[in-house]
Amino acid sequence: MTSPSIAPEKPCALCGKPAVERFRPFCSKRCADIDLNRWLSGVYAVPAEEAADEEERPAKDEDERP
Ligand SMILES: [Zn+2]
Repeated sequence: MTSPSIAPEKPCALCGKPAVERFRPFCSKRCADIDLNRWLSGVYAVPAEEAADEEERPAKDEDERP
């Protein structure tokens, strides 16, 4: 059984509203702009190698020897 879906349009990638053909895959220019801005600002870019959480801390002084 195949559903008679004429236009299997995906919802807006941002807000989930039905996408408009003109702004696909978004529902409006606004969403398209937001996505573009995100893209440009590097949100979608591959994250750079994050340094390990361990920050360079000064080694504990060995003053507190037992
Ligand atoms: Zn949208």
